[in-house]
Amino acid sequence: MKTAPISEELFQRAKNFIPGGVNSPVRAFRAVGGNPRFIKSAKGAYLFDEDGNRYMEFINSWGPMILGHAAEIVQEAVMQAIPNSLSFGAPTRKEIEIAELIISMVPSIEKVRMVNSGTEATMSAIRVARGYTGRDKMIKFEGCYHGHGDSFLIAAGSGAITLGVPDSPGVTKGVANDTLTAPYNNLQAVQTLVDANKDQVAAIILEPVAGNMGLVLPTQEFLQGLRDLCTKEGIVLIFDEVMTGFRLAPGGAQELFGVTPDMTTLGKIIGGGMPVGAYGGKKEIMDCVAPAGPVYQAGTLSGNPIAMSAGMAMLNYLKDNPQVYTQLNETTERMISGMRNNMQQLGLNYTINQVGSMFTIFFTDQPVYDFDSAKTSDTALFGRYFNEMLQRGIYLAPSQYESLFVSTVITPELVDEYIKANFEALKAIQ
Ligand code: PLP
Repeated sequence: MKTAPISEELFQRAKNFIPGGVNSPVRAFRAVGGNPRFIKSAKGAYLFDEDGNRYMEFINSWGPMILGHAAEIVQEAVMQAIPNSLSFGAPTRKEIEIAELIISMVPSIEKVRMVNSGTEATMSAIRVARGYTGRDKMIKFEGCYHGHGDSFLIAAGSGAITLGVPDSPGVTKGVANDTLTAPYNNLQAVQTLVDANKDQVAAIILEPVAGNMGLVLPTQEFLQGLRDLCTKEGIVLIFDEVMTGFRLAPGGAQELFGVTPDMTTLGKIIGGGMPVGAYGGKKEIMDCVAPAGPVYQAGTLSGNPIAMSAGMAMLNYLKDNPQVYTQLNETTERMISGMRNNMQQLGLNYTINQVGSMFTIFFTDQPVYDFDSAKTSDTALFGRYFNEMLQRGIYLAPSQYESLFVSTVITPELVDEYIKANFEALKAIQ
């Protein structure tokens, strides 16, 4: 039994000074019940909490720790950079080097701008798409998350042509009116929106593999259909690869599916754990960005030398070691196959979606291909499963609507441990 009295005490204290006790909502464990663990350190496959508990974990800081925690190559790059000062607010050689590296890896990117988070990347990309096309509206997909920029916090209306309504107080109706939403994997709904808003849609933005409604894969026809539609209608196609970039392949989901967008947003792995994001795309679009062009976007800490050093160490490693992806796939497939065996033994039929080193177990027997089908999952059951796994020393994402991330430090022995815990947890919640 893993008790966590110190974490509980810290959570009570945190709630006095920080809204909800956390600096990002999902960390509060609201969706699964119980108190969040306050983490003291992490190494390799493990998190250690303030109570001295150890957890094998599959969040990896929501993706960036693809080589596990405190990977030496990244730590060393940071240590080497620190004595030269933490920030200059002036151009550096490293920014050119990381730009060259990103461009050499991501098919759609000819020019790139560094920012400090995924949210900044998507907000900026949309502004640039609007500046480039001279149009105001954008289309996003139900269940896709693109950070907390106003334009993205929009719930779907009931019909495909219904204008979005704000999903959070503080988002104005004016902003919401410019965001149209469609169901994921539904090309016809997108076509209908585009037809109804002729020459008004600046951009279509999506997670090319969705990780924020749990893991949901696109069909090849959906991605290719969006590509063809955007080309025909002069709409900027934006792949939000904040999660999938450098994770599903060196060139992200766009490399894996062979569909090239006009712009791409990145985050997570390009910072190696430091706060970094980036957006890039075709030269003619990116040359709209100030000071090359009229679309304003800036950042005091953008291109920060420590963050660039961490990111470069990570990306260089991934570029030079493509076998990482084969290894990650094999590890994840071994986990999934063990989970399927567990379910067979227990007579269960839950849905597991997986691609590369990302996966989600949905507590439903329906196929999950969009947000509505994801919502057929029994989230209360997921909460119980999560807590059973936590008690067995396995730390999963504390929400049904998240993807898990596997890192290279998960050995076959750890996979066996995971499968055993999964069996016991599934059995315990029936
Ligand atoms: N886009 C996607 C696909 C994401 O998954 C996230 C965050 O998880 C973001 C954007 C926002 O990134 P950040 O949390 O760094 O602002």
